[in-house]
Amino acid sequence: MTDNRELVLRLVLRCTYCVNRFSWLTDRLSCRILSLRNMKLIVDFMCGRLVRWLRVLGFDAEYSKDVDTKTLLKRALSEDRTVVTRNTKLSSVSGIRLLLLTSEIPEEQIKQVLEDLDLAVNIIPFTRCNVCNGVLEAVPKEHVRGKVPFYTFQTQEKFKTCLRCGRIYWEGTHVEHMKRYIAQVLGKPDQPNGSETREVGQRGT
Ligand SMILES: [Zn+2]
Repeated sequence: MTDNRELVLRLVLRCTYCVNRFSWLTDRLSCRILSLRNMKLIVDFMCGRLVRWLRVLGFDAEYSKDVDTKTLLKRALSEDRTVVTRNTKLSSVSGIRLLLLTSEIPEEQIKQVLEDLDLAVNIIPFTRCNVCNGVLEAVPKEHVRGKVPFYTFQTQEKFKTCLRCGRIYWEGTHVEHMKRYIAQVLGKPDQPNGSETREVGQRGT
């Protein structure tokens, strides 16, 4: 075997070794990325403002209005959700994923959720209903005729509807205020990523 052929063979063997050796790592990273993208949350009754903003940012965040923690934990387990809470007593419960919030200020809570759960890269704002957590779907303008104020129908072109509660969303005048608020919370002067979907005005049906 010539020196060159031997060198090539060694490189091939080494690459095969590397692929096999680190495949578990890439698998784990893939699983982690997948799990983060699909991470579902359930927020306790003490954090109503937080859950609203998590939905605005596009996260699947259910709200537990029930003061009874058993109901919260049961739902977290059955729906495979991470509990976000201010209740320190829950931190000792085993078998559930839990994020214990350290602040009672909504802006700081949002920051903590994004940082501790590593969710900042998964923000897709204005894709969920901030009232019920349903997914928003674009609908033809004609679909909302008679269901939104006449002026809104005349002046807006893009509408979305909540697949769960039927609320209709459009780009209202307070969109810029919400975008600025999100950017401020995230510590970014510009808009959060994915801001091309920005329907925010709403009307329940
Ligand atoms: Zn809804």
